[in-house]
Amino acid sequence: MIFEVIVDIANSEVDRVFDYVGVDGVFVGSRVLVPFGGRKIEGFAIGQKEHSDIDDSKLKSIVAPLDDFVAVTPEMLELMRFMIGRLHIRLIDALRLFVPAQMRGGRIGELKKRVVFPVLPLDEAVERLSKSAKNQRALLEFLASEEKSDYTLLGEKFGFGTVKKLAEKGLLTVSEVKKGRVPYKNLCGEKQSFVHTDEQRSAIETIINGTENEFLLFGVTGSGKTEIYMSVIDYYLSQNKTAVMLVPEISLTPNMLRLFRSRYGEQVAMLHSGLSAGERFDEWLRLKRGEAKIALGARSAVFAPLENVGVIIIDEEHDASYQSESNPRYITSEIARFRRKYNGAKLVFGSATPSVETFYKAQNGEIKLITLQNRINKRPLPEVEIVDMAMELRNGNKSFLSDRLYDELKSTIKEGNQAILFLNRRGFSSFVMCTKCGYTAKCEDCDVSLSYHADENLLKCHYCGKRYRMFDLCPECKSPFIRQGKIGTERVVNELKKLFPGVGVLRMDFDTTQNKEAHLKIIEAFANHEAQILVGTQMVAKGHDFKDVTLVGILDADQSLHFEDFRAGERTFQLLTQVSGRCGRDVKSGKVILQTYSPKHIVLRLAAKQDYLGFYAKEINIREATDFPPFATIVRILYSGENEQNTISTLNAQYAMIQELRKSRDDILFANKMKAPVRRIEKKFRYQILMKIKGDMTDELSDKIFAVSDMKQHKDVGVFVERNPQNMT
Ligand code: ADP
Ligand code: ZN
Ligand code: ZN
Repeated sequence: MIFEVIVDIANSEVDRVFDYVGVDGVFVGSRVLVPFGGRKIEGFAIGQKEHSDIDDSKLKSIVAPLDDFVAVTPEMLELMRFMIGRLHIRLIDALRLFVPAQMRGGRIGELKKRVVFPVLPLDEAVERLSKSAKNQRALLEFLASEEKSDYTLLGEKFGFGTVKKLAEKGLLTVSEVKKGRVPYKNLCGEKQSFVHTDEQRSAIETIINGTENEFLLFGVTGSGKTEIYMSVIDYYLSQNKTAVMLVPEISLTPNMLRLFRSRYGEQVAMLHSGLSAGERFDEWLRLKRGEAKIALGARSAVFAPLENVGVIIIDEEHDASYQSESNPRYITSEIARFRRKYNGAKLVFGSATPSVETFYKAQNGEIKLITLQNRINKRPLPEVEIVDMAMELRNGNKSFLSDRLYDELKSTIKEGNQAILFLNRRGFSSFVMCTKCGYTAKCEDCDVSLSYHADENLLKCHYCGKRYRMFDLCPECKSPFIRQGKIGTERVVNELKKLFPGVGVLRMDFDTTQNKEAHLKIIEAFANHEAQILVGTQMVAKGHDFKDVTLVGILDADQSLHFEDFRAGERTFQLLTQVSGRCGRDVKSGKVILQTYSPKHIVLRLAAKQDYLGFYAKEINIREATDFPPFATIVRILYSGENEQNTISTLNAQYAMIQELRKSRDDILFANKMKAPVRRIEKKFRYQILMKIKGDMTDELSDKIFAVSDMKQHKDVGVFVERNPQNMT
């Protein structure tokens, strides 16, 4: 048999099938070792045939299969073809998504340990030993009494020679067993069981029994969506099917993990970045082998190696993290939809603040809408108060805290409750500037101002991470009058410690969550009341369920409002609603103080009322009037290169081709070239062509655009085509 093999080299020139003669243990989907250009390299067998067009004498043979299982299922091979058409990527780029990175290059394998077992009952075995073999006797006795079987442990205790001798005498057998790493084993708690509310019961029934395939579970924060997901999963497990549960990375909190571990034990495999490489590989393998039936994880878990999938759930479906920002730039819901169709599964989107695009589909009946109107036990949504920060300034308050928020914080602390303060700006201050000459510290490699970080006394670039020394005197004019820019989370914590001495304050942002599990530790600490105030970036907005949080302060609600991005309003609405939803979740009622310089802004007013439908009605009209998704597709072709001249000439050449293409058709509503909003990142200059395409872009047009993007004279210029990008920087 001849196998068609894709070699694991990310180079377009070799990204095609090569024929090899098969060997034992190789199947379609196996990872294989093959001779290639004088070396032996890894590859994927993606097809087989009786005969090759290549002459038999020239055909080489596969060296060996790499695993004792078939890594890539037929479904994934079909998904690979779908992704290539949709995203214009290399075969190998798709295949690499389907197996854990750690598996490639043999960097990790199954952890095995050696165990020993006695062959005979103790007294019979002892009879066969000579009187002088004291150690051997002791080992056998130990084995009989302790039931410990670890080879290394016994070897260290009684000497490895002793173990060996007993094995040679046939009194012990030594064998290898898998030593699976199951993460968060001890996170188990009581399995919760609830009497479902009417809304929950009817939602579960609609999903399981409905004739529709896709559902949008639209329910306010705290309406018990998670319990619905789990009940639906229960049902499909009972039907001998499997389930994929996707959440934004940041929502994989100890709470969430505990909930699933308690309910499903080792039936659930967790795939997320907090795991060690070994743990991640083992979890993947447990799914692959069918030992675990539920994959719980962030975006990439949509590729979980499960067969016979019954349901795929995408929680917080509006979250931007569901779209990959680096190649392959896949959209999670499109992959989920493919798998839904292939498996005849159900696809459930859930959110309190659905994306405008998804809600539009639900309105149109393309997706079945299920609404949950009430919080569990009819707990009221928190009361939101808008505070005008311009007024505070006029009244002489220059602090980052309005008088109202200060008062509320004080009483929250006094009552022994907890508060969350949200500010989507990390570091100490957003920039540093000389007030005498106007010098602003910028990154050498990126076109952005540097943020000051006081705990390390450094300036940092938030795009590339580069660090610079802080200065006391202006590097340009030597003036000592340096102004700090807008306040960041680090400085908020400093100020709070001065304002409320003795009160515990925790900070959760990119900088405090760099260590493994740091993010989980902060959440646990806050849940255990080790602090009364939690300050953080959007990380604090999602999914947390703290019982004693009665106050949420939104320090700068305007921050994301004025971006030049068609999703700015939507993002702001979602973020504010999600943050507000963090309080008053238990018996204690909650209050939200929203600080802004635009107190009349309609988006803020609607967010304060948690009026999603009002927001949607307003937003969908704007989108229609201005030709934005879901009425149009935004396509951005991004050009980036260290050589600015080459970047511009690639841009210009391709822009001419796009203009030419536009002449012959009327579905390209708009096409223009320009500098990207951030002009330089990591030494690379950035330019873009922005296009608006009528409706959903056809495959025919998308192929033409991909074809244009392939035509480049300069190899050093990166060209990336993005469809409805989540991030337009
Ligand atoms: P959402 O995901 O919609 O924000 P959650 O799933 O976090 O809401 O549910 C909010 C709270 O209500 C959780 O603490 C959950 O354990 C609890 N809960 C869910 N369903 C029920 C129920 N039927 N009865 C009582 N409590 C419930
Ligand atoms: Zn200066
Ligand atoms: Zn930089």
